[in-house]
Amino acid sequence: MEDESGPKITIRKAAKDEVNFVVQNVDMSLANALRRVMHAEIPTIAIDLVEIEKNTSVLADEFISHRLGLVPLDSTEVDKLEYTRDCSCDQYCERCSVTLRLDARCTGDSTMEVYTSDLVVERRGDSVGQPLFTEPDTRGILLCKLRKHQELRLKCIAKKGIAKEHAKWSPVAAIGFEYDPWNKLKHTDYWYEEDASKEWPQSENATWEEPPKEGEPFDYNAKANKFYMNVETVGSLKPNEVIHRGIRTLQAKLAEVCATLESQEKERHGDASVYGGATAYGGATAYGGGPRFDDPMDTRW
Ligand SMILES: [Zn+2]
Repeated sequence: MEDESGPKITIRKAAKDEVNFVVQNVDMSLANALRRVMHAEIPTIAIDLVEIEKNTSVLADEFISHRLGLVPLDSTEVDKLEYTRDCSCDQYCERCSVTLRLDARCTGDSTMEVYTSDLVVERRGDSVGQPLFTEPDTRGILLCKLRKHQELRLKCIAKKGIAKEHAKWSPVAAIGFEYDPWNKLKHTDYWYEEDASKEWPQSENATWEEPPKEGEPFDYNAKANKFYMNVETVGSLKPNEVIHRGIRTLQAKLAEVCATLESQEKERHGDASVYGGATAYGGATAYGGGPRFDDPMDTRW
């Protein structure tokens, strides 16, 4: 009999840009909400505006701008930046953006390669918005190639955002999500030509669950209980940060729902609300110790 006392996480693999874990004893909606939040709602920094001063390369301005937008930038300290929509400036300023410059000109006979390491961050004493180098002794991502006398000079404005707005702000490249590897719940209908079991090889996660017994009746009350997740990051945030921030974002969203309900309830009934004076999101939460949503250093999550 498995322990049903509360959520349980088993980390199976933790690497520089990947983490593989199993979540147990949670509802599928929660596991899937976590996956969706990690994909689309964790703020990061990405290049959002590009002012091209000179481009005599073979690539079109918009092609280069698109490539620049997808360059992962260091977002560990993203909380230091405001969203432009919350900032008092008109278009962008130091509080809500990071400026990167690129100035490349080929003067030699051989082809010149322009990498993300050639992007220079203007006036900042921290890591915010720095292009990342995940592989040692490399110059980052190849942006374009220049022949003799060709030139590329531009200014990039990187802003804080989330992937709901544009995929370039996603901290993850992919999240693997699997449950019920033996398909006991029959949520998947395998298409096959002759033999489904031969044409659909078992996933590795199948070794983590009991195979179905011969002649076992279908359990109509069964629910998925184990979720196998594999989070691959793009480098802007570390995998553990993606998970911490994902859970915190989800918790903050739920807290907002509770707070709204509570204020509506107060309006209707005066002071005493059905949710009690203190919400579960106040001083102490059920998750131990009471993490603070506004403190990025609180990694108890
Ligand atoms: Zn601003």
